[in-house]
Amino acid sequence: MIPTPLLVFFVFIFGAILGSFLNVCILRIPLGQSIVNPPSRCAACGRQLPLGVNLPILGYFLLRGRARCCGAHLDPRYPLVEAGTASALAALWLLYPPELFAIYALLVAGLIVASGIDLDYLVIPDALTIGGVVAGISLSYLFPSLQGKEDPADAMIRSALSATVAGGSLWLVARTASWLLQKEAMGIGDAKLLAALGAFLGWQSLPFIVAISSLIGTIVGIGILKKRKQKLGVKVPFGPYLALAALLWLLGGARLAVKYLPNNFS
Ligand SMILES: [Zn+2]
Repeated sequence: MIPTPLLVFFVFIFGAILGSFLNVCILRIPLGQSIVNPPSRCAACGRQLPLGVNLPILGYFLLRGRARCCGAHLDPRYPLVEAGTASALAALWLLYPPELFAIYALLVAGLIVASGIDLDYLVIPDALTIGGVVAGISLSYLFPSLQGKEDPADAMIRSALSATVAGGSLWLVARTASWLLQKEAMGIGDAKLLAALGAFLGWQSLPFIVAISSLIGTIVGIGILKKRKQKLGVKVPFGPYLALAALLWLLGGARLAVKYLPNNFS
């Protein structure tokens, strides 16, 4: 048997390597480029990097935040995404059985890519949101424990209903807010992302995710307003807050809900 700390270390390393792949996805998916070919290029000068040069997390610090080829400043987001993916996966490994760990790792990877693209472009590609809904419903059928069920059909129905409730209610909020403000207040992409979260995590996660993401969004929003003296109503990406709230649900929110909500709340 491999001791737990060593296993967690392996999962962390795997997460860091996965994170460096997610960085490539964030850069290339919005441009319609292939995510596997060509191999990593320098974001600044476009020169191809020899395999193994871009060591996850540590590489950034070893190179003191500069590209080896041309000395351009590297975006600190690269090591952040790598360290974030690695830490999230290590924590999920400790909390969940292997089957659920694999599904949640996939979900977290998708959420990180969606957040990165939302921050850069203020849109989330349908491939990630609608794709997430399809993946969540399919995985619920294949692994009913994802929905806390034993019967595949039960789990699939629960996942599909949760996606519909999640997407539908946020869509309604977005439409109402846009109508009241007479401009687009919230992207429909956010409603699709919440639908994907519903498909994976079930409807009981939704009050937590909506409350926590709104709270984080408000705090960050006030911070940005103070710092940049921006006008109210500037469109801000909401996807990263939904993603962060979903991660917090996986890391502890779900357990709190089980502890403090009535038993028939499922
Ligand atoms: Zn370069």
